[in-house]
Amino acid sequence: MKRVIFQPEHEAYREVVREFVTRDLAPFAERHRSEHSIDRKCWQRAGEQGLLGFFVPEGYGGAGYRDFRFNAVQGEELARLGYAYASAFGINTDIVAPYLLELTTDEQKRRWLPPYAAGRTIASIAITEPGAGSDVLGIRTTATRMGSGWVLNGSKTFTTNGSSADLIIVAAKSEADKPSRSMSLFVVEADRAKFGRGASLEKIGQTEAETSELFFDDVFVDGSSLLGEAGAGFGYIVERLAQERLSCAVAALGHARGALEETIEYVRQRSAFGQPIGSFQATRFRLADCQTMIEVATAWVDQCIDAHVHSLLTPVDAAKAKLTATEVQNKVIDHCLQLYGGYGYIKEYRIARAWQDARVTRIFGGTSEIMREIIGRSLALTDEHA
Ligand SMILES: Cc1cc2nc3c(=O)[nH]c(=O)nc-3n(C[C@H](O)[C@H](O)[C@H](O)COP(=O)(O)OP(=O)(O)OC[C@H]3O[C@@H](n4cnc5c(N)ncnc54)[C@H](O)[C@@H]3O)c2cc1C
Repeated sequence: MKRVIFQPEHEAYREVVREFVTRDLAPFAERHRSEHSIDRKCWQRAGEQGLLGFFVPEGYGGAGYRDFRFNAVQGEELARLGYAYASAFGINTDIVAPYLLELTTDEQKRRWLPPYAAGRTIASIAITEPGAGSDVLGIRTTATRMGSGWVLNGSKTFTTNGSSADLIIVAAKSEADKPSRSMSLFVVEADRAKFGRGASLEKIGQTEAETSELFFDDVFVDGSSLLGEAGAGFGYIVERLAQERLSCAVAALGHARGALEETIEYVRQRSAFGQPIGSFQATRFRLADCQTMIEVATAWVDQCIDAHVHSLLTPVDAAKAKLTATEVQNKVIDHCLQLYGGYGYIKEYRIARAWQDARVTRIFGGTSEIMREIIGRSLALTDEHA
């Protein structure tokens, strides 16, 4: 089905992203995998071509296009090369960006946005801790007032881009916060004394992206590092989760689409019993299922993108998008891998890596169980949720 949400300017942008992927990322992918990191030159090339600042206002070094369809095009195209690229760049453009655009003063914007749009600043967001992931309110990192600033203590884990990040949004509990449901957000510049990071964690997939532990041991940040109001951090996070989840959904389907196209090509070429494996009814039926699942999920996700462009996306609809798209992605890629036979199990094959990369999308950005919880609560099955 023809997708109707994109206009010519979005398709033109798709070409820009495709060119960037072909020229500036794909030739270096092997190195990114072995080094568990996307090198700074790639970030700078992305910045030079406007991929990291299209949404930043012109006065702060960007192009001023605040339209999630550009984010969607970018996420889809990056995920085709490898989901890790959508994860790493998506942290900047889809997840950190709304905090820096919406919660900052002019002075903070002047300080952080120009190098960010230019690809000189890599960003991350550190909410998850060893003891608290799904349960965001369970974090233990603290922020204590000291003079005009704050002192941070605690540790974070699973921080995407964490090993290279120059600027990290950190969630911490402060004494200003109401005990149970509140926290504050700080932008920590990585040159702060006593800030430390562990090596990038060894993952089963998405090896190009950094996933790191961060340590705050009496790290002092000045007062202007606070994002928005002290104590309002949990609300800020919740308000921005819908875009984060939509971003995961978009990339998941882009990833699945790419894998399906490559598999269709493969079953045309590969023969068994004297005929292409694509000629077997079992293959045809399996791929028909895959294409149907992707297209049906795309219809919902596109509707969510359109709703988001009009500021109408609800957390429940975003949860449905992430739940569906990531489950479809994992099913489709698993079916595709099966059609590669033994080669599907060999890491040199892109389908094997796609399968490894896909697994985490049902976990990060809110697990599938948490998505079901959000959707289930909206059904008002008990008086508590009515
Ligand atoms: C590769 C990767 C990148 C990541 N990037 C970031 C990042 O950049 N920044 C960041 O802050 N975090 C990041 N995360 C963390 C990620 O968001 C968390 O791993 C995720 O939210 C789950 O938290 P957890 O790992 O602590 O699992 P837990 O919360 O301990 O959950 C364990 C299991 O219990 C289930 N569960 C928990 N609560 C409920 C409930 N109420 N009802 C039903 N089941 C429940 C979960 O669904 C899961 O199956 C990343 C994680 C990974 C693996």
